[in-house]
Amino acid sequence: MEHGKTKDTRQIQDPVCGMVIKDIDKAPASHYEGKKYYFCSDLCRIQFDQQPENYIKKDEEPGHSHHH
Ligand SMILES: [Zn+2]
Repeated sequence: MEHGKTKDTRQIQDPVCGMVIKDIDKAPASHYEGKKYYFCSDLCRIQFDQQPENYIKKDEEPGHSHHH
């Protein structure tokens, strides 16, 4: 089985729970400040809609810190 070229490997994550959205066509989505966000379920979308600022990092921290 051949693997196609992995051109577009952008991963879209649910900003609420951090889950990777695999099928954005079916995922619930919400617009906020001109951006579109996708969610794993309506529950996460509702949480986001209530307090979107809680889930969006406006300022990027200098030096990316990864969790290990
Ligand atoms: Zn979620």
